[in-house]
Amino acid sequence: MQIQSQSQGKHCEICDKGSMQRNMVSHSKRVAIRYALPNLRKIRILVKGKVNTVWICAKCLKRGKVIPALPRRLSRPDTLPTSK
Ligand SMILES: [Zn+2]
Repeated sequence: MQIQSQSQGKHCEICDKGSMQRNMVSHSKRVAIRYALPNLRKIRILVKGKVNTVWICAKCLKRGKVIPALPRRLSRPDTLPTSK
């Protein structure tokens, strides 16, 4: 199994939650190491008035620690479909 290190970018930008190591112990007490990745979402957020695309874990997103930016099609008013 390939180990995902934090230098590869698999971590939350807000709380710095990365891959977690856990031991799978069988009935014969043989230990196998498993790695669990956090539930990461790539979203566009507002940072000091500017739109930034970052990886955020689902818990930070749910707790409202970031302000999600508008979708791209809504951020440019000239591209909106006109209702006639
Ligand atoms: Zn987080």
